[in-house]
Amino acid sequence: MAVNIDPNNRLSFVGRSGSQQSRARFDAMSTVKARQPVTSSVNYEETPLEEIFGSNVFNRNVMRTLLPKQVYKTLLRCIDQGEALDPTIADVVANAMKDWAIARGATHFTHWFHPMTGSTAEKHDAFLAGTGTEGGALIEFSGKFLIQGEPDASSFPSGGMRSTFEARGYTGWDPTSPAFLMESANGKTLCIPTVFCSFGGEALDEKTPLLRSLQALNDTGVRLANLVGGNVKRISSTVGAEQEYFLIDDAFYLARPDIIYSGRALFGARPPKGQEMEDHYWGSIKDRVLAFMMDCEAELYKLGVPVKTRHNEVAPAQFEVAPIFESANTAIDHNMLLMEVFRKIAQKHGLRCLFHEKPFSGVNGSGKHNNWSLCDEEGNNLLDPGHTPQENVQFLVMLTAVIRAMNTYGGLLRASIASAGNDLRLGANEAPPAIMSVYLGEGLTRVVEEISEGKEKSSSSPQVVQFGVATLPDIPKDNSDRNRTSPFAFTGNKFEFRAIGSSMSIFFPNTVLNTMMAESMDYMYDQIKKIIDKGSDPVKAAEQVVRSVLKENKRIIFSGDNYSSDWSDEAAKRGLPNLRNTIESLPELVKDETKALFKKYNVFTEQELVARYNVRAANFCKTINIEWQLTRNIATTIIMPACLEYQNRLATTILQTKAAIGGGNIAGQEGFLRTFVQRVNDLQYALETMDNIIAPSSGGPGAGHGEDADQVLLAKFCQEQVIPAMNEVRATVDELELYVDDSLWPLPKFRELLYLF
Ligand code: ADP
Ligand code: MG
Repeated sequence: MAVNIDPNNRLSFVGRSGSQQSRARFDAMSTVKARQPVTSSVNYEETPLEEIFGSNVFNRNVMRTLLPKQVYKTLLRCIDQGEALDPTIADVVANAMKDWAIARGATHFTHWFHPMTGSTAEKHDAFLAGTGTEGGALIEFSGKFLIQGEPDASSFPSGGMRSTFEARGYTGWDPTSPAFLMESANGKTLCIPTVFCSFGGEALDEKTPLLRSLQALNDTGVRLANLVGGNVKRISSTVGAEQEYFLIDDAFYLARPDIIYSGRALFGARPPKGQEMEDHYWGSIKDRVLAFMMDCEAELYKLGVPVKTRHNEVAPAQFEVAPIFESANTAIDHNMLLMEVFRKIAQKHGLRCLFHEKPFSGVNGSGKHNNWSLCDEEGNNLLDPGHTPQENVQFLVMLTAVIRAMNTYGGLLRASIASAGNDLRLGANEAPPAIMSVYLGEGLTRVVEEISEGKEKSSSSPQVVQFGVATLPDIPKDNSDRNRTSPFAFTGNKFEFRAIGSSMSIFFPNTVLNTMMAESMDYMYDQIKKIIDKGSDPVKAAEQVVRSVLKENKRIIFSGDNYSSDWSDEAAKRGLPNLRNTIESLPELVKDETKALFKKYNVFTEQELVARYNVRAANFCKTINIEWQLTRNIATTIIMPACLEYQNRLATTILQTKAAIGGGNIAGQEGFLRTFVQRVNDLQYALETMDNIIAPSSGGPGAGHGEDADQVLLAKFCQEQVIPAMNEVRATVDELELYVDDSLWPLPKFRELLYLF
């Protein structure tokens, strides 16, 4: 390669075929080649992990030290026992928070909340409250600022719950999730987790419903656990969210407008090497990537996020991070923080972190495994079967409640994770199918069968795995094998909901999980109570109800291969819903049963629920709207010119060759040109077809403000017409990529994006 200076005095590389070479792509490759691992701001030899962990969090340790004893106790009662927050302590807490934050270099604070955009929101205010009479700075942070904020609600999605003139919204402090300091290159900001609602009190965010669902889970769970012999004061759900993601070099990212604006590659032929060698999964982690992971971990440790596991995932350039589970509210805040930190730190390392569910077609997409369980105030796991699950009544009652909840509300849970991005992944042979079912594992399935069929209980003796090598000891087997294809699998002492998309906020699916579980626990309570009231022993009553409820709900249990086509036939026979995409799923959100469920447990009013439905439909349209525009724009202004340039070269060469050899036979080359011209025509036709489909709908899908009911119609139109038209354009471009002179191809190819670090 040689260096060239273009008429605008920009330096560029010239490849073998001269100045027409696609500069962005080759520049990117040179940039990537020169990259080195970037060091982290934390040195564990100087500052051990124990010292770093939580150093940016206003946690219990800090509160115990800084708050007067009485205030600390009052606050703990609110956090641990769900007592209403006593507003009179707010000033004291706010003052302590401010002093702590300022001592660590903070100048600003913000309420940190989760509007219905799926991401976080923040508006920073300085602690500076004015200038004193002497001209100095007055610093202030009162309880009022801690407890309440007043963002303009009109610019956040409301799903039709407000008109623009009703712009007032409120944020309110959530004391159950700790405040923290967010660091940037030039200072720190105190972030206070809050809820967000409208002037009329409707939840405009993702957190309020989650907190309501946790309340319902607690009320019903405590009642049920204690009815069957427990002595439980509080029940909460625990969550551990395994997070998958892709990394690509920043230089490639900047040369791919599709990835910049839609989060995924809208074009790109399958690379010659994908994931078929199975050599990336758990492979040795490349230096630059490991440096990035460690830097992220350091930042997350400071924020008290207990990240534990890191590894290469199945697809090239795909990775996973998993935390230690925590109480649901904190765990979900922490997952939001994790995504934010990963995005930010990636750029420091010359990388980009992609959370999209399917950034590269042809290799695996990314999901988020939501590990979920129930625990009491002492941290005891209520879904732990113990050594003899068949005799653990409380466990069996809770397990039965989960099975019934899945059988009753599986469609709703499916709908809670529906999005345009997740549609590209669910149901493909890499992710759970869209059919919801429960996997229990061999041991528990046997227990369930024995109970529901009223058979004798068998006790299974512990088994071992033998390596067959004298020097290696036998190791005990877990009581069940794994089933990686199940969307909702019991994994020892928790359920793993695997269908969530990697980019999604997990607030809503967890809200749904908690609420459907609350309803199911209530059902179990009522049934058991009826029998007890007739004079039966609680344990006997519980066993009787477990038996009948398991029997009624058995169709949801499936242990086989969820990827097989046999399963969709079998599921259809069992009457299980198969909601293949967002459009088919969304109506579940506004079904009468769903409305009744959420109303009963005060999680969503009908209006709040319909708002979620509208927001999701609008988001779907907006996503497709962005994607088709990008498709047209890139195909027309980036791909087509490169193709025409190559076509021109071919034509010129053929003409010149003919002239030079005086009419000799070059039919092979002419044939190649002819086929090439046809391929370019195909691209043009595909673009015209897409334009014709979209033209009649005023301005294209999602062009409006996206909050009215016809968003649903528009979403259908996108699904049925726009997506296939877009796919057709892509197919022609991906085909052309395999023929155009490599030095002219403008977009970084998958073989570069996925492999060069
Ligand atoms: P996998 O084998 O599915 O990849 P990992 O060990 O990577 O499992 O992740 C399991 C996740 O489940 C971790 O985040 C872990 O903290 C979480 N987990 C374990 N126990 C519970 C529980 N009781 N409740 C919620 N999450 C849990
Ligand atoms: Mg997992």
